[in-house]
Amino acid sequence: MARQLDILPDRAAQIGRAGEGGSTQPALKAGRHSLAGSVSQRACVFCGSRVVLYPIADALHIVHGPIGCAAYTWDIRGAQSSGSQLFRNSFSTDLQEMDIIYGGEKKLERALRDLIERHQPKAAFVYATCIVGLIGDDLEAVCKTVSAACGIPVLPVASEGFKGTKKDGYRAACESVLKLIGTGDTSKVTKRSINLLGDFNIAGETWVVRSYFERMGVEVVATITGDGRVDDIRRCHGAGLNLVQCAGSMTHLAKRMQDDYGIAFKKISFFGIEDMAAALYETAAHFEDPAIMDRAREVVRDELAAIMPKIREYRRDLAGKRAAVYVGGAFKAFSLVRALRSLDMDTVVVGTQTGDAADYEQLREMCDPGTIIVDDSNPIELAKFCLEKDVDLFIGGVKERPIAYKLGIGFCDHNHERKEALAGFVGMVNFAREVHASVMSPVWNFVPRRASRAAALKEVAS
Ligand code: SF4
Repeated sequence: MARQLDILPDRAAQIGRAGEGGSTQPALKAGRHSLAGSVSQRACVFCGSRVVLYPIADALHIVHGPIGCAAYTWDIRGAQSSGSQLFRNSFSTDLQEMDIIYGGEKKLERALRDLIERHQPKAAFVYATCIVGLIGDDLEAVCKTVSAACGIPVLPVASEGFKGTKKDGYRAACESVLKLIGTGDTSKVTKRSINLLGDFNIAGETWVVRSYFERMGVEVVATITGDGRVDDIRRCHGAGLNLVQCAGSMTHLAKRMQDDYGIAFKKISFFGIEDMAAALYETAAHFEDPAIMDRAREVVRDELAAIMPKIREYRRDLAGKRAAVYVGGAFKAFSLVRALRSLDMDTVVVGTQTGDAADYEQLREMCDPGTIIVDDSNPIELAKFCLEKDVDLFIGGVKERPIAYKLGIGFCDHNHERKEALAGFVGMVNFAREVHASVMSPVWNFVPRRASRAAALKEVAS
């Protein structure tokens, strides 16, 4: 019998259940500052900016703040680069007591000049942290001075950690990138072309997805947040369409590009068979070119023929198993619910760090009755929900892994630290294999909570 743990009363409005209360059920509250004392799983504003901009590979990234902020986000994604590895460093001004008292602007300027001379980056991003917001260093002024002296764009990122939610960090990152966009030559960009926004090239996923579009005859101008290049970003305003894979982080940039350059955008997902195919078909439909649509069908047909035999094998064992999902953005949550369904698994708990009320409404509609839906959760809540629903699998990131293992539950890492490509059709097979290996491991039978059930099943079998 699962031990029932109380929920903090102030958290109740951010937790709901699908199928309960019908149309009278109030919308889930979202986008709030995390409740003090709840030990939120959500990262700070600075971290939000850092994870988005980090994969711009030939830029210099410097964290203006104490060393802890830089260490916390050092090489934070499994994002891969086909060239420069400069982005994987976590340069920091390492602010000390005396800098806090007298200000850190001079130190930042020295650090920037030195690093730009040594590494010759195409651009530099300078991240503000909590303490910089408190002491009031003028990042804009320092960046302007260094940019004029060194001849490259030096872009401040207004990401003071305390000033909002992780989503505010995404917005600050978008504002910085916008300063690069529109500064390059678009004369060679073709009409049937796209930018990929919010795909982070984890374990090379951007390369997988890019190859599908290229097989369709669609040019990929910039992969802004995965294997990103400053020169591509400068000219990406010439593209015909923006595809937004991580809606939480990149919708703001897509909207601004629509307003400023007239580029339409589509929110898509590259996770799971259904969503990957839909992304290709929607792109083809946008360009209204029958030849592109035909090639999209070919890509989907060929890829499915290659992966379905394996998927069917895994599905036989996984049918009826229960999963909890806790991820950063809502679009990934939607895709995971669908991907788990294609493995005949049930999602019984689903939550995100940055979803909004409309996202949670959509989750309510797509999930089975009784599914717990939660915004900005914490370890105690997540553990309680996993026990209550007796889940077989937890899908989350680095902060959720210990929760799962302590409870004796299989775990699948679907966050930015992972080393396995899970996007695209080939990613679906990797996902199914990982889920299968974790859920079906016999080790879970030795968890005390499960041991009696395993013994009973053995007795029945004999
Ligand atoms: S910016 Fe603030 S909240 Fe974020 S890591 Fe640094 S000190 Fe912590």
